[in-house]
Amino acid sequence: MAAILYTYKNQVYANITNRCDCSCTFCVRSEKDSVGDADTLWHKVEPTLEDIKAAIDAFDFTNFDELVFCGYGEPTCALENLLATAHYVKQKMDIKIRLNTNGLGNLYHKRNIVPELAEVIDNVSISLNAPTAEKYQAVTRPQFENAFPALLDFASLSQKAFAHTQLSIVDVLPADEIAACQKIADDRGIYLKIRKYA
Ligand code: SF4
Repeated sequence: MAAILYTYKNQVYANITNRCDCSCTFCVRSEKDSVGDADTLWHKVEPTLEDIKAAIDAFDFTNFDELVFCGYGEPTCALENLLATAHYVKQKMDIKIRLNTNGLGNLYHKRNIVPELAEVIDNVSISLNAPTAEKYQAVTRPQFENAFPALLDFASLSQKAFAHTQLSIVDVLPADEIAACQKIADDRGIYLKIRKYA
């Protein structure tokens, strides 16, 4: 059975769905079946809210101060379970909740989901991946044509709604693209996280 909760580098992650509206060229899912202590992160069947709650009840959160929604899929594609799980966790324990997302949730759901997320999620990390729409389309291969501006809108809304919002890129981008991504973040007053490519 695929892990719903898994740990990696002293962090605990919730893998609530394998659905995703992108097909990124660099996605870890195309290279291996798991990350961290999970045997596999591929769900044979999408977990139900009851499955997710049971995994949370069975997990010892003693040494963790944050739960990160970041699975083998885009968490906002399972919005109902994401919100219900975050509410459940907040009722049960005093822990921060972070969402790692591709930032296309508003496009996917055809409405602004940020206010609902902000009720229970503290911090958001949004994968920027590229400095232009053209490059973004090429590297993330989203289901949508207008994904990049939608991502930037989502980031601006998030910046106002969450305690901490960051955009993220990996350090393998050329220096001029990193500088352009930095400008995108700076123009919106958002922190840019430059992750090491693993
Ligand atoms: S958005 Fe995330 S899960 Fe989806 S294809 Fe890209 S890297 Fe993979």
